[in-house]
Amino acid sequence: MRPTDFTLRGALDALNEGEITSEELTRAHLDAIEALNPRINAYITVTAEKALEAARASDARRKAGQAGRLDGVPLAIKDLFCTEGTRTTAASRILGEFVPPYESTVTANLLRDGAVFLGKVNLDEFAMGSSNATSAFGGVENPWSRRNDPDTKLVPGGSSGGSAAAVAARLALGATATDTGGSIRQPAAFCGIAGIKPTYGRCSRWGVVAFASSLDQAGPVARTVEDCALLLGSMAGFDPKDSTSVDLPVPDFAAACARGVKGLRIGVPKEYRLPGMPEEIGRLWEQGLDWLRAEGAEIVEISLPHTKYALPTYYIVAPAEASSNLARYDGVRYGARVSTGGDLKDLYEHTRAAGFGAEVKRRIMIGTYVLSAGYYDAYYLKAQRVRALIKRDFDEAWEKVDAILTPATPSAAFGADEKQDDPVAMYLNDVFTVTANLAGLPGLSVPAGLDAQGLPLGLQVIGKPFDEETVFAVGTALERAADFTTLPGVRAGQA
Ligand code: GLN
Repeated sequence: MRPTDFTLRGALDALNEGEITSEELTRAHLDAIEALNPRINAYITVTAEKALEAARASDARRKAGQAGRLDGVPLAIKDLFCTEGTRTTAASRILGEFVPPYESTVTANLLRDGAVFLGKVNLDEFAMGSSNATSAFGGVENPWSRRNDPDTKLVPGGSSGGSAAAVAARLALGATATDTGGSIRQPAAFCGIAGIKPTYGRCSRWGVVAFASSLDQAGPVARTVEDCALLLGSMAGFDPKDSTSVDLPVPDFAAACARGVKGLRIGVPKEYRLPGMPEEIGRLWEQGLDWLRAEGAEIVEISLPHTKYALPTYYIVAPAEASSNLARYDGVRYGARVSTGGDLKDLYEHTRAAGFGAEVKRRIMIGTYVLSAGYYDAYYLKAQRVRALIKRDFDEAWEKVDAILTPATPSAAFGADEKQDDPVAMYLNDVFTVTANLAGLPGLSVPAGLDAQGLPLGLQVIGKPFDEETVFAVGTALERAADFTTLPGVRAGQA
């Protein structure tokens, strides 16, 4: 077995058994990155020297009997997490060569537990997008391709496209990601891996470049549900530096994976049966319900009546918060500056015009519009009210069910040239995922099957607030039943 083929759990076992060193594991991943990244473009920055140094330090800790719970495991970090001394771009020109003088809390937690960082991975600019196409550092290629059309390059999804592609292509054992409206779950589904957005407040947002602060949440992507549980156990936890971080103990998520689903009530929201949804997505959903039923779960039909307003609500709230958050990029305090000798306003205008890409500008304009006097009540305030109703739908559902099962995405990965000219078609990708962000709930995407073209499809498990444990239990049951073993065409060690 190649070292890049380990699951994270498998790698930890091999490290603990002395079958491999972190240096060997890390070197194998760096070699794979060197061979494949020119094609996949998952990494924006590779920190090879730092990684090897960290791996050697980890091996020394293990020898001394002081290994942490993720000691020696090579990971990729979404380039939205500030990393001390390592360039952090948010895939935007405006952050340019920004090198943070501090470490985000989530990445600091991973380092505390001994993880080795291979580098910073690609994303949509400021995490705005569903295909990684808006990155100032170029798109990312999905390691999967269509059976009958292998030459068409497919997107990895977004915004955490680099995280998902790196893990699927065996260029990291796991990765950090963020999810504001689906950016962990949709790319995980498109790349045939697992990913969880935890409950809002579970992970600290401190040091993560802000997009829409009331929706943003960090989480892991990895090849198995248990690997996600191991990573989240390290990433999560109360942080006084983030006032929305919640002071609750972090449960043993990995232990919860083995709980089983016997006796659990699983909700099926009837409003998620979308008109025009591809038949194979509906079939996979039914299959998922059958699997859970066979393991002793009870399937309960539920209603989330405000679902149809979720997408428009999200695309008002998220741009509104983004327009406010991105006001800080003015050419004075961070990154790039375009000075043309005019006054301060000229400096702002020129810097922002040159520094932001088209999608980011669109979001800032939409956000500024919905927050402006005269439109605030009609759009922003209304959206906030609908958001409360969406949350209430879930609160009522939790009286009847323990978790909810839905498809993760309305389609498999699409071509790099498809949907790019139509922002609304792109926004529709998020139809099943944004509700969990609006309501602050945990959502896990699990690879569960293939479409007619041989591309991965995911199922989503949504849970009660701070009940990631049930989500992991249901996800593990699905993963076991689906026995998803197909591998992407492009991955480390392949011709
Ligand atoms: N696709 C969504 C958007 O473009 C989700 C982004 C995210 O979750 N970061 O806003």
